[in-house]
Amino acid sequence: MNILLFGPNGSGKGTQGAIIKEKQGVPHIETGVIFRENISGGTELGEKARAYIDKGELVPDEITIPMVLDRLKKPDCISGWLLDGFPRNLAQAVSLNKALDNEGMSVDVLIEINLDREIAKKRIMGRRICVNDNNHPNNINIEAIKPNGDRCRICGGLLKTREDDQDESAIDKRHEIYFDSKQGTMAAINFFKDLSENNGSPSVIELDGKKGVGEVTDELMKKLADL
Ligand code: AMP
Repeated sequence: MNILLFGPNGSGKGTQGAIIKEKQGVPHIETGVIFRENISGGTELGEKARAYIDKGELVPDEITIPMVLDRLKKPDCISGWLLDGFPRNLAQAVSLNKALDNEGMSVDVLIEINLDREIAKKRIMGRRICVNDNNHPNNINIEAIKPNGDRCRICGGLLKTREDDQDESAIDKRHEIYFDSKQGTMAAINFFKDLSENNGSPSVIELDGKKGVGEVTDELMKKLADL
């Protein structure tokens, strides 16, 4: 199953993504994680991406689009994938759809987690990243996934913050891009929703991100099972 996962930064996308990955047995491909791995690995791609990421701006499409399309060609994607953080604008949505079309593939499911900007911002600032595994969600502002003291609640690893998570103007910038329905992420979501209306595919699942982590997961699993 090929899945796109949308939600503003701070909506619990990464948390739900890790659960979907387990349940569906598909790789969880997060563009933000790929960039951060490249930055910490000191690669050329990381060097190019860093300045944009620090400001909360999008890394240019000519870097991001080929990077994602290459990733989807890896053998672990053969029976499906979960894309999180891509497409983030209309151009990326169109490119993805075209590239999939050329390979005789398509998006099967679009998952959208809805959440108000202010709540999302509070959650972002509480987010803590596990140095051992980025997919271990910890957040000092969310009861269900509070760290164990100053350590990862899952593996006990050290926790750190992302610089762009503590910078309010970078957070606002990321949200502006997300909620932009002309060219931004909302435009990408609407592009696939239009496809859904016209072709009956992808299936669309909308979730209320205000609910607790467990409740969102239960609703998501039920809706996935009903497809
Ligand atoms: P995230 O981890 O999803 O919050 O992404 C962190 C940062 O990586 C974003 O603020 C962007 O600078 C960059 N980034 C992630 N995904 C994309 C994308 N699809 N297109 C361009 N830049 C991206």
